[in-house]
Amino acid sequence: MTAENWGRVCNGLQSDVGQDAFKNWIAPLTFQGLEAGVAHFLAPTGFIGNWVTRNYSDKICSLFAADGFSVNRLSFSTERREVKMPMNEVVKPAAVATGSPELPGAPLDSRFTFDNFVVGKPNELAHAASRRVAEGGPVTFNPLFLYGGVGLGKTHLMHAIAWEAKQRNPNARILYLSAEQFMYKFVQALRFKDTMSFKEMFRSVDLLMVDDVQFIAGKNSTQDEFFHTFNALVDQNKQIVISADRAPGEIDGLEERIKSRLQCGLVVDLHPTDYELRLGILQSKAEAQAVHYPEVVMSNGVLEFLAHRISTNVRVLEGALTRLFAFASLVGREVTLDVTQECLADVLRASDRKVTIDEIIRKVADHYNIRMSDMLSPRRVRSIARPRQVAMFLAKRLTSKSLPEIGKRFGGRDHTTVIHAVKKIEELRAIDNQISEDVELLRRMLEA
Ligand code: ADP
Ligand code: MG
Repeated sequence: MTAENWGRVCNGLQSDVGQDAFKNWIAPLTFQGLEAGVAHFLAPTGFIGNWVTRNYSDKICSLFAADGFSVNRLSFSTERREVKMPMNEVVKPAAVATGSPELPGAPLDSRFTFDNFVVGKPNELAHAASRRVAEGGPVTFNPLFLYGGVGLGKTHLMHAIAWEAKQRNPNARILYLSAEQFMYKFVQALRFKDTMSFKEMFRSVDLLMVDDVQFIAGKNSTQDEFFHTFNALVDQNKQIVISADRAPGEIDGLEERIKSRLQCGLVVDLHPTDYELRLGILQSKAEAQAVHYPEVVMSNGVLEFLAHRISTNVRVLEGALTRLFAFASLVGREVTLDVTQECLADVLRASDRKVTIDEIIRKVADHYNIRMSDMLSPRRVRSIARPRQVAMFLAKRLTSKSLPEIGKRFGGRDHTTVIHAVKKIEELRAIDNQISEDVELLRRMLEA
């Protein structure tokens, strides 16, 4: 791939998006090269990169494709980039040179490494098992079967295994692909009457990783082929890693013999993220964003707020953070809680845990052993006023209700009373262990 290819893509873009847009968004970019299906660019600001990603990436990818290059994603940086691992694809020329068939794996995402994977209670076992596989050495469990809900890091871990294994042993033949691609290649092989080289290729790898295997459920001839490939590799003591969105036994439409084969190895699930893991991931991703947006200032408490309020899907968390940084950079504002709520209103609504103010009042009253009617009453004795403030604080944190709405629900109080309560509890949490524990416990109960 040369600058000429990019030049041709630019010509196509120019006529497609128009002179002005081209001058504003595309011309400032410097094309740096293609790596593992990712086209890298240098952009003068992170905002331009984001804009191009959002508005032109499909066009750019298809223009590259027309020029004979398969590009899955664009990546922008504001600094010149050192390519640390000069790996083009999972395909290594060395493998071809030995006379083995070429490996047409899916490209690996350069961000999906072990270094970038944040480990917490919900994913520690999956992480440890993946590390073990990546280290190579004698195969102790086969396959490694990773399962869990969407956006919990299955694909990330598989790519990380590939990067790490490749680094430890550059000659290893590593093949990563989705079950869908497996099927596609199989169907193509059938169509072109070339199943021999298909079989040969899959049976010649040292490490095979098939992502989202639930996809082949119900697709019988693909399952059949998968089963044979699988057995051939296990017989040769080659490592296999499989992922799915649920446990092997729960995948409907998967043949029993395959289910039991899959259960023979180590089956590990990625649990939904908990608050601590979400916060850890947000901190790590915010640091990465800060490199692109050095001008953006973030107030304390924003990441904690997002970790509380956004669902367990890490992809959603990441998207929210990216949007927040781009927005703050564009409008030149500090990222405060208010800015966050404004900018992410739709995301917050969508992942609202639907904790209601009634629930909060009930749980808090229960916890402090006071009556619900006291919560709403004008009484101001400390033993009632404090729990009321805790409840208001939780209402602000756990629901998307506005301050006046919250005030209204607490016996028709003014929104300034709510602001005062939120401030008060925030202060107390820092100095009063009892309050801090109460709030934490209540939050957990309400969000469970
Ligand atoms: P899955 O394949 O389980 O649906 P992915 O591996 O595609 O999920 O993860 C979705 C996104 O979340 C990716 O961008 C990934 O990097 C990120 N992600 C998930 N878990 C973690 C983690 N523990 N640490 C850092 N990033 C994570
Ligand atoms: Mg995935």
